[in-house]
Amino acid sequence: MSPRSPNVRAIRATAAGGPDVLELAELPDPEPAADEVLVRVAAAGVNFIDTYRRSGVYTMTFPHVVGSEGAGTVVAVGADVSEIAVGDRVAWSSAPGSYAELVAVRASKALLVPEGVSDQVAAALPLQGLTAHYLVTSTFPVQAGHDVLVHAAAGGVGLLLTQLAAQRGARVIATVGSVEKERLAREAGAADVIRYRELDDLTRDLPAEVRALTGGRGVHAVFDSVGKDTFDASLASLHRRGTLVLFGGSSGPVPPVDPQRLNAAGSLFLTRPTLDDHIATRDELDWRARELFDAVRAGALDVRVGATFPLADAADAHRALESRSTTGKVLLLP
Ligand code: NDP
Repeated sequence: MSPRSPNVRAIRATAAGGPDVLELAELPDPEPAADEVLVRVAAAGVNFIDTYRRSGVYTMTFPHVVGSEGAGTVVAVGADVSEIAVGDRVAWSSAPGSYAELVAVRASKALLVPEGVSDQVAAALPLQGLTAHYLVTSTFPVQAGHDVLVHAAAGGVGLLLTQLAAQRGARVIATVGSVEKERLAREAGAADVIRYRELDDLTRDLPAEVRALTGGRGVHAVFDSVGKDTFDASLASLHRRGTLVLFGGSSGPVPPVDPQRLNAAGSLFLTRPTLDDHIATRDELDWRARELFDAVRAGALDVRVGATFPLADAADAHRALESRSTTGKVLLLP
């Protein structure tokens, strides 16, 4: 094989560490494998999981090109790909190396983007939208009459989760970190909003506020992506036989839990779900994506792109996400 000229700009993490380990690199054009499509990236999604992979919370090999989500236009297809053609617009949640001008995406994981959905909205939906969808449909099927607590409700997952839970008839109690985030959470459908950074003692005061809002009973489910800082308050905010859906650790990982705590606090359920297990088959991926895209096209789901950064400024995007200063989706534009 002849050596190929380096001409694709991409963001690489050079070692485990802070945002400074992200560097702009020039790499050879990727080539699609037989089951892949090659996509010119219009927008790459920035997700909290990218920070875990960069910082070493998740084991990774270095250097690696960061990112897994995006949307763009197909420029080449592998030999075995028949369902996607050059020129199609696609979006994806799981293509390693998506912080780049070009990325190879497995055709079995690529979603055709319908007309009426912009590239930026398409890039904002796959990871956080599919997550919000499986949480309210499969992990804790939310119904009318439920009281649910959504932490970080003005975040990427949070704004979508709040809308989907409220649309299914639940009363959503949201936690947020600022006045501006409170406004966004209310617009998304939260009935009550608690600015949890203003509480003297989160673990003591948050459950007290939640119980005051629910006639002393507590909520049927807590959707907790904050993790370490909120876990104890989440458990203490639940209704008898309520469900704690722990799906992230934006404040850090939760230490090991004694199952006896679930007994003592009212026969509680604790689950720690992940997206991959909810889009493992093409049928399930298509069902969830179709419902999301249909809702966007019908004007029923608002996808807020809170910030965009040039690809070269990926480190700034990570700093913003990790410093709690972002709302909704953060995108990189190559
Ligand atoms: P967000 O947009 O929600 O950003 C994180 C938010 O968490 C912040 O804006 C902040 O909101 C809140 N937060 C609270 N404490 C901290 C802290 N110490 N440091 C930083 N942020 C903090 O990010 P994403 O939507 O990308 O992801 C949200 C969570 O969902 C992540 O934990 C992620 O890992 C998880 N996730 C899990 C998936 C799964 O399948 N299990 C899939 C996708 C995401 P505020 O200021 O309001 O407190």
